[in-house]
Amino acid sequence: MAKRLSSQKLLKNNVLDAQLCTGCGACVGLCPYQTIYHDRTVQLHYCDLLEGKCYAYCPRTPADLEKLRQLLFDIPDLTMEIGAVKAYYLSRAADPEIRAVAQHGGTVTALLELALAEGLIDAALVSSGTDQYLRYGTLAADKNSLRESAGVKFIVSPMAAAFNQFVHENRGRVGVVATPCQALALAKRKLNNDRDEALKINQLQLVIGLYCGWTMSAEKFSALLARKGIKADEIKRMDIPAGKNTLEICTRRGVEEIPLDEAQACIRDACHYCTDSTAEYADISVGAARFAGAADEQSGWNQLIIRSGRGRDLIDLAVKRGVLEIREAPAESLHELKAAAVEKKKNALKNIIRKSGSAKRLLYLDSGDTMIKKILGA
Ligand SMILES: Cc1cc2nc3c(=O)[nH]c(=O)nc-3n(C[C@H](O)[C@H](O)[C@H](O)COP(=O)(O)OP(=O)(O)OC[C@H]3O[C@@H](n4cnc5c(N)ncnc54)[C@H](O)[C@@H]3O)c2cc1C
Ligand code: SF4
Ligand code: SF4
Repeated sequence: MAKRLSSQKLLKNNVLDAQLCTGCGACVGLCPYQTIYHDRTVQLHYCDLLEGKCYAYCPRTPADLEKLRQLLFDIPDLTMEIGAVKAYYLSRAADPEIRAVAQHGGTVTALLELALAEGLIDAALVSSGTDQYLRYGTLAADKNSLRESAGVKFIVSPMAAAFNQFVHENRGRVGVVATPCQALALAKRKLNNDRDEALKINQLQLVIGLYCGWTMSAEKFSALLARKGIKADEIKRMDIPAGKNTLEICTRRGVEEIPLDEAQACIRDACHYCTDSTAEYADISVGAARFAGAADEQSGWNQLIIRSGRGRDLIDLAVKRGVLEIREAPAESLHELKAAAVEKKKNALKNIIRKSGSAKRLLYLDSGDTMIKKILGA
């Protein structure tokens, strides 16, 4: 009989060496054998465990996603394009001081501030950085540290590793900001029936997902910045302005623009195999308000998807407390969002099939999954 491979070896063969690693950090901090170096996940020492959590929690290993969706969401809310939708709005922080430091409308920062102020969470895990441009998950327990971590750079921030550390230290109830792959990694932990693991995952009280088109490899992007003469440690945030084919980089010296195709040449390999653009496994998902229509109607606003009951309660509270402004989104905005989400799913599935060599083998995805079948048939 063939010897079973250890979880760590499977992770190496099927994820790391297959260029599928998203850098989420879910496999880091569970044991001493794996770590993050720059934005890469590295195996430091051999482990022969057959049922390792590193493999189970990785968002790029197979899982019963059908069961997971049933566990987390109300079935009638599920859509094939963008996951569960209880409600869909445009939103922004009511406080202009939040909007001034935020990426778009400041919805994420406003919601985390509220969750902290109301005692729904003891801390939030948000993204911070070093002057080397690398990102990491950091703990914010007050509004100042939340505001200091507002804004976005399109480089991976291993939020699931920060969560592992948080629960290891048993620090209380936490809310996490997560890209789609990270939200899936966190959600997968809920499939584990082990009592100790349940206690850990129960500390996770809120996941605010970010829409995500792609992230860039830190190595490739640093090389691009060097060619452009942009200092990485001067970058404050970056964005892709609506209707423009450029990556806009706000630095301490002003705004620099890089042609989008040059930035896209830096995309992390794993992102080409990613089917989720809206963080389908989060309680609430937030993105930029972008759709065909008047640009001034969208500037400084977010799109907001409420997915879970917990997400709906938080948004209701945010409106009641006056910390979030909400308005109905025009119908074309949801239509365009769904079309873009399907496009990303189809491209990813095409790339997956090219890599595996067969439409029956979808690497980490299940060709029998209802949602995957719908996309392949769409
Ligand atoms: C890599 C990446 C790609 C994205 N791609 C798209 C896209 O294609 N389309 C789109 O509409 N929106 C995209 N977004 C989301 C968008 O940039 C905003 O984050 C979102 O609209 C929320 O805006 P806000 O004003 O509420 O954010 P803010 O109130 O400024 O809060 C942003 C929060 O995100 C955290 N954060 C920053 N970087 C990361 C990271 N790498 N990982 C986890 N958390 C982080 C910050 O610490 C902060 O808490 C992307 C975000 C990231 C991180
Ligand atoms: S995708 Fe996440 S869990 Fe999987 S190997 Fe990479 S860092 Fe580890
Ligand atoms: S595109 Fe997908 S894999 Fe890449 S960072 Fe975003 S969610 Fe993760």
